[in-house]
This record gives sequence, structure tokens and C-alpha cells, in this order.
Amino acid sequence: MPWHRSRLFLGGETMVADVIVDVKAKPVNRPFTYRIPPELVDVIEPGMRVVVPFGSRKLLGYVVTVRDDEDTDFELKEILGTNDLVPSLTPELIQLAKDLAEDTASFYISCIQAMLPVAIKAEYRKWLIPKADNLAPQVASYFQNRQRVRAEEVRSEDLPAMKRAIKAEQVELVYEVKDRASIQYDTYLRLVDADLEKVKQAKKQQLVLSYLQSCGRPVLKKEVQKALQVSDSVIKALIDKGCVVEEQVESFRTPYGDIKRRDQRHELNEEQRRAYETIAPKIKAQEPTTFLLHGVTGSGKTEVYMHLIEAVLEEGKEAIVLVPEIALTPQMVFHFKSRFGHQVAVLHSGLSIGEKYDEWRKIRQGKVKICVGARSAIFAPFTNLGLIIIDEEHESTYKQEDMPRYHAIEVAKRRQAYHRCVLVLGSATPSLESYARAMKGVYQLVELQHRATSTPLPNTQIVDMTLEAKKGNLSIISDKLYQTILDRLKKDEQVILLLNRRGYHHFILCRSCGYAMMCENCDISLTYHKRIQRLKCHYCGYETKPPKVCPMCGSEHISGFGYGTEKVEEELRQLFPDTTILRMDVDTTRRKGAHERILRQFREKKAHILLGTQMIAKGLDFEDVTLVGVLMADTTLKLPDFRASERTFQLITQVAGRAGRHREQSDVIIQTYNPHHYAIQAASQQNYKAFFYQEMRIRRLGRYVPYYFMCQIVIASDTLQESYRQGERIVRFLKESLSSESILLGPVIPQVGRLNNQYFTHVIIKYKREPQLKSALEQILMTYSSGSVHVAIDLYPTFLV
Ligand code: ADP
Ligand code: ZN
Ligand code: ZN
Repeated sequence: MPWHRSRLFLGGETMVADVIVDVKAKPVNRPFTYRIPPELVDVIEPGMRVVVPFGSRKLLGYVVTVRDDEDTDFELKEILGTNDLVPSLTPELIQLAKDLAEDTASFYISCIQAMLPVAIKAEYRKWLIPKADNLAPQVASYFQNRQRVRAEEVRSEDLPAMKRAIKAEQVELVYEVKDRASIQYDTYLRLVDADLEKVKQAKKQQLVLSYLQSCGRPVLKKEVQKALQVSDSVIKALIDKGCVVEEQVESFRTPYGDIKRRDQRHELNEEQRRAYETIAPKIKAQEPTTFLLHGVTGSGKTEVYMHLIEAVLEEGKEAIVLVPEIALTPQMVFHFKSRFGHQVAVLHSGLSIGEKYDEWRKIRQGKVKICVGARSAIFAPFTNLGLIIIDEEHESTYKQEDMPRYHAIEVAKRRQAYHRCVLVLGSATPSLESYARAMKGVYQLVELQHRATSTPLPNTQIVDMTLEAKKGNLSIISDKLYQTILDRLKKDEQVILLLNRRGYHHFILCRSCGYAMMCENCDISLTYHKRIQRLKCHYCGYETKPPKVCPMCGSEHISGFGYGTEKVEEELRQLFPDTTILRMDVDTTRRKGAHERILRQFREKKAHILLGTQMIAKGLDFEDVTLVGVLMADTTLKLPDFRASERTFQLITQVAGRAGRHREQSDVIIQTYNPHHYAIQAASQQNYKAFFYQEMRIRRLGRYVPYYFMCQIVIASDTLQESYRQGERIVRFLKESLSSESILLGPVIPQVGRLNNQYFTHVIIKYKREPQLKSALEQILMTYSSGSVHVAIDLYPTFLV
């Protein structure tokens, strides 16, 4: 018997737990030690949620270690209780949270919370309870006929009086930690005694007993009642007589219903088989290898993934499949569910809190072996991972933009090291970082160069829109595109059109003084939405009526400029009056299920033209689409972001890949004002390598990723001055802390310097090896963020605006 156990038997009061408490503030970014009360000594384990006293409050915390405390010579506070019977976090995830906090310069608690479904994070209720009779009338009015009142109910004019009452201990403020998780149960009836003697007089009770007997297993109570048309009182009588017992069984919501149809399982073609045979042995050998699966659009990467998962299941192991949120359509889920049935859990933001919680519990309880989900599914609490797949690995949505600012690929590598499992990054347009790693041999490159359906890649043409204007065509649809659309409509084929800009006019300008209508809260011009007659800020949601006269000079000569999807839709209706047109963008997909409805209508050929923003660029696979038009390839090119060319290349290549997936003849038409730009040229030739080498040259000159690692520090404040000053202080501090090899840029005010009334200053660090970085960043997080100045640190910056 280990020593600490025997001490338990003797004294029993020496066990303590280190707990990360649910407060996101710098002084508490460390575990606190609490005594485990004797009655909980056998209950508390690392990874459990506990309720602990913290200052005057009761808070939720997560146990990270349980240990024997030898020299407690001061009064430790005690754990008050636990919300778990099984730890929420596995030992691996406890360690991962710690590593993640360091990797991303985040608070420990933020990392823990990022791993768990919303349902099990704490919700606090603040209650006010009267403690004295002599309450001020203003305060007393709240407790007229109630024992307690929610703190949120107090009107702001009464708050000072209430505060005084609390201070004078006339009213007590009580925190209640509420578990948001709601597990649903189904009631089953189990037969324990089929003695018909006991129910001789009761026909209905007899009926129930023989029904249960014939079933030979517990049956849903609802089902029994429906089948036999018996009331609750009949069942209750049987329970009272001891013939039947009720059992509560955890029920799991099934967000996609039960899938009965079966997906077609393709035999792998030659290329796919080679990919499979390169990767699968590493799964069996438990060699933690990372593969970059570079396959052209339509090369059948999904089929390779599925075969690999089969290999994982044969080993008795588990797999995580990450797909971008937008690609996680019911169609995608269907592929996996129909192939792997009940072994699949799905996690994504479209599910309700309860549904997500159910899916998560299936994983935690080992009821499923595969998790398909968006970014946060990388934390799926599996304990025996054999494979992690990240599809469309170049997607920026794999990076979380709030604390913890993690990148799913980096988290995957941590989990890979722990489980010694295989990591597969798949894409038709890998990120420059990933492809460069593959070139260096850090990742193993596996290529699929042909389409799985053995159809050729589409023919691509670039249309120079500057010439179009010279010809006198001012429409956003070039002659070439117009003719080709007509041709496809005649053949009963379908067309996808991409414009990565929503709304009607991109901006509104006064032609007398040149003033552009701007958002009140941001340095962003307002977009005109015609149907609802509003000007909108696409960042903060600010809205206003379109002005009749210029707010600067009073002129009436105000016009809208630039095309958004709403305007294109209007124009298409005029050009093709006999065709149904579907538009898919943020504005048409706000309602739950709208996204799916539009895609279904298109699949059922209720419409022949699908127009949309980048939402339509990914993953869609429609049989009859033989034309893709990119209306303005330049929208992403001019963004103030060093990845603008990369994003342009990816977007065009991806959307072009929607064409001709099942047909011999298909076309892609790219309209642009920059026909000679290398990103557009390379995309039109589907030539990834050409793009890669050109872009790498530019990155090397600019000393960007992947030649340098980058860290972005964003300083936000209510005033420009304050944010800039703090930027200067941070730069001074970093100059002293970092080696001379690192490059320090800033403080700079970004192009969009104000968002939501917050003023921004940036500091950027470019480095190759910087041993002092982690500690310097922690210092910054601890000392340079204060009440009015907020500092955010991003070690995987995706946008540098
Ligand atoms: P990717 O994700 O690489 O763009 P998909 O996985 O969507 O490609 O596959 C493209 C199409 O090819 C799908 O319709 C799929 O059913 C089909 N497909 C995949 N593998 C095969 C195969 N071995 N034989 C025939 N068709 C296949
Ligand atoms: Zn004006
Ligand atoms: Zn705004």
C-alpha cells in the first residue's frame, strides 16, 4: 500500500487538490491549492470540476493535480463539492491545456474551457437575500413578496442603494454555480416479477406484464403505453406491487436522425491506393508521422480518409476528422455516418448546446470511435487516438481568433506526440507553411494528381475586365461569361458564380466632395443593402438609413459604387429572366437550415445558377455544374494582408474545382482587372507549384512566414493615444528582452485603425529562434494589459490588418 494511502487511513485530512479557478484575470493564472474534505477524498480526481470558495465567491474550478500535502501549516480552504462523477478532462487534456497556455500566451482557464462543450462550463446566478428588517424603502421594494431576487433584476438607479445595503450586511449577495449541462433520460420498464397471480383482477396490468415478458428486455415506457393504450396509473400499480421497475437510461439526442441509407464505398483507384499504402502502415506501426496529402480538387481525398479510418478501427483505435465549419454540411456528415454508423460523433457550431454535449459525452464515454467536426473537435476527449485528419488544412478557420488563439494543426501535433499517432493534412491548395515543410521533409508529401471520377480538369480562361469596359460593356458579366452561361442553360446544365462581396453597393460616395459614408464605430465604409434599404457595417453590425444628402457638404449627388451579390443577383435576373437564381451569402443564410435549403434546391435543379460569396467555394460536389465564373478575382488581392495573394490563389482554385466533377466538358471563367497577376495566372492553370515558388520568393524578401515565425501583439484602447503609447512601451520592453536576431516592427496603426470604437496599435515580432520569447510574452500579458488597455498576443497571426 502506498504511503499516502496509509496516511489517509490514519488521519485522512491531508489530501489536497490544485485547482484552476474560473477567473480570467492575470493574478490567478495559476493553480490554487484546496483541501479535499474527507468525504470527497475517494471521489476527487484530476480533471474533475469542483466548486471552491474564492474570495467572497463560490466558483467553478478544474482539478489539475491531487496530492498528499505533507506540510500544511496554514489554513487551506476546502473544496465544497464536485459536479462530476467522471472527470471532464483526461490526464492528456490537463497537460495539453498547460502546454497550450504556454504555446499561445493564454490563460490556463481559457485553454481548459476551449476544450469543453459550453454545456459544462459554469453559469453563475447572483441572488440577493434580505438579512435585516430596516431596509431602505428603495431596497425593500424588491423583497416585498419574495425571499430572494436575481441581481440582474435590480434597476440601475437602485444599484447604489443596493450596494450600500450589501456593504452594511443588510442584504447578502450569494453566488450559485449552476450546471448548464442537461442530460436527458428515457424511462424504461423492466420486468422483475411476472407473477400473474398478483394482478389477477386487473386486465390491463396483465397485458403489460405479458407484453414485457414477450419482449424479453426492458422497453421504453412511452412505447409500452402507446402499444397497449394504458395509463400511468396502470404502470404505477405494477410498480407498487413489485412486478415492474422503472429505469432511467441516459438518452442521446441524434442531431442528424438515424441514417438508414448507405453511402457508396468506392474501391480506391491506383493513385488513391498508393496514398493509402504509404500512410496506413504508419498507423499500424504507431509512428507519429505527418503527411501532407496534396490532391487536386475532386481527386477523392475523402475516400482515402475513409479507408484510413477503416484501418484505424481495425487497430481498435480512434480517429478525429476536422473539416472547415462551412464544409460540415449534412451531406458530409451523411458520408461518415452512413459508412461508420453509430461509431461517429459530430461536433460543430450548428448544434444546440444540448446536442453538442451529448455528442461530446459519447466520445468521453467511449461510445464512439470517430469524431467529425470543426476546429474545436481537435479536443475530442479520446484516449486511444490512431489518426487525426485535417481536411482543407489551409483554411483560416482552423485558427481561433479569441483567446486561446490556437491553431488546430499545432494542437494536433501535440496530441500526435502524446498518442504516437498519424496526422494527415489534406488540401488541393496547401498553405505555404505546410508545403514548405513538405519540401523540407518535415512532412511526408503524398500527391493525388488526377480526378477520381476520371474527368479532366476544367478549361480555364481569364477575361480582362479593363478591356470589357473599353468595349462599352459596363455590366459585371463579361460577354464571354454571358454567352457561356446561355450555352449551359440551353443544355440544362448548371452554373456557379462567385463574388466575394455581399450587399448591393460596396460603398456610397458623395460625388461633390468625395466623402464615403463611414461606420460610426469603425474606420470602415458602409455597404448599401437595397432590399432592406439600409447602410450596414460588415464588421460591427452598425446600421443606418441611406442619407438623401451628403452629411459633409449637403450635396444631393450621392451614388453607390461597386458590386455586391445583391446587385449581381438583380442583374442576372434581367439578363436571364427565365432562369431561377439562388443567392448564398451571410444575408440569405441567417436562418437555421437556410444554407442547407439553398444547396438542396440547387441539387434538385430547381435553379440553374448559384451565386454566392466564398461560402460556395468549398467542398460542394454537384453533378451538373459545368461552368464556374469568378466575377471579380481581385476582391481578396488588395487586402492589407501578406497572405492576400495566397488567399486569392486558394479561393479561385477551390471554386474552379466545383466545375466538371462528373462531366467531360467544363469551363472556368475568371474575370479580373489584374489578368497578369501571378496568383491569378497560376490559379487559372491549376498550377500549385508555380504559385508556390513565386510566392516563396516574395515571402523571403519580405521576411514573412514560412521564412520567419511571426507574433502579433494587438493593443486596443478607447483612445488612439493610449493604445499607441502602450505600443511604444511594449516595443521598448521587447528591445531589451529579445535577441538582436529578431525583427521588431511597430508600433504601427493598422490600415483599419478603429473597430467597434476601439483603437488599435500593432507590434509585430519576426523571429527564427527566440528562446526569450515565451517569457517576454508572459510578462507583457501580465503587466501591459490593464483596465483600459487590452493587449492580445497572437503567435499564429492569420490576418495582419
Ligand atoms: P476532393 O475532396 O479530393 O475534392 P472528393 O472526395 O469530393 O474529392 O471526391 C470527388 C468525387 O470522386 C466524389 O464524387 C467521389 O464520390 C468520387 N470518388 C472518390 N473516389 C473514387 C473512386 N475510387 N472511384 C470513383 N469515384 C470516386
Ligand atoms: Zn459631399
Ligand atoms: Zn462598424
